[in-house]
Amino acid sequence: MIHPATELRFISEEIGYGVFAREPIPRGTILWVLCRLDMIFTPKEVAAFPPPYQPVLEQYSYIDAEGRVILCWDHGRYVNHSCEPAMLAVGGDFEIAVRDIAADEQVTCEYGHLNLIEPMACRCGAPRCRGLVASGDVLTLWPDLDRRTAIALPNARKVLQPLLPFARDASQFWDWVDGRARPPSHRDYHAAARRSATG
Ligand SMILES: [Zn+2]
Repeated sequence: MIHPATELRFISEEIGYGVFAREPIPRGTILWVLCRLDMIFTPKEVAAFPPPYQPVLEQYSYIDAEGRVILCWDHGRYVNHSCEPAMLAVGGDFEIAVRDIAADEQVTCEYGHLNLIEPMACRCGAPRCRGLVASGDVLTLWPDLDRRTAIALPNARKVLQPLLPFARDASQFWDWVDGRARPPSHRDYHAAARRSATG
């Protein structure tokens, strides 16, 4: 489930739609949470869908670090990639704002986590745009991603968290925020995905 103060907006014929903040959203806010309405499939279940479903699933679903195929039920499935994303994953169930997001700013995430089957050309416009986004990117990016997540997490206690009631395990999130447990490293998401991909 994507944050309630976001909405879907058409950007251009080339890019299609994107998700935008309707009001300022401060750093540390949970912007997306894996909730009970999101659909979770195994790769085998996806392969069993009839052919007309395949391009739809390919476009709107993603493969997470545990090898699960996730299809977001709401406009969370339209979140675009940026090489300087507004939100980053904390474990498999949460994405948090890693900087303050202004009203009307596009809410973006890092596709380098998402085990892209094919590398994707990127023209996100960020000064540090990588040009090509591939699933192995996290192997070099993880220290920076971990650092940005670690800076944003303590702020989670100071901001409104409308998505928290929808989390499957909110206590785990607070353990990470309050320092009782270390959040998983972005490097580990990739390692877990490699393990699940190779069986
Ligand atoms: Zn880019």
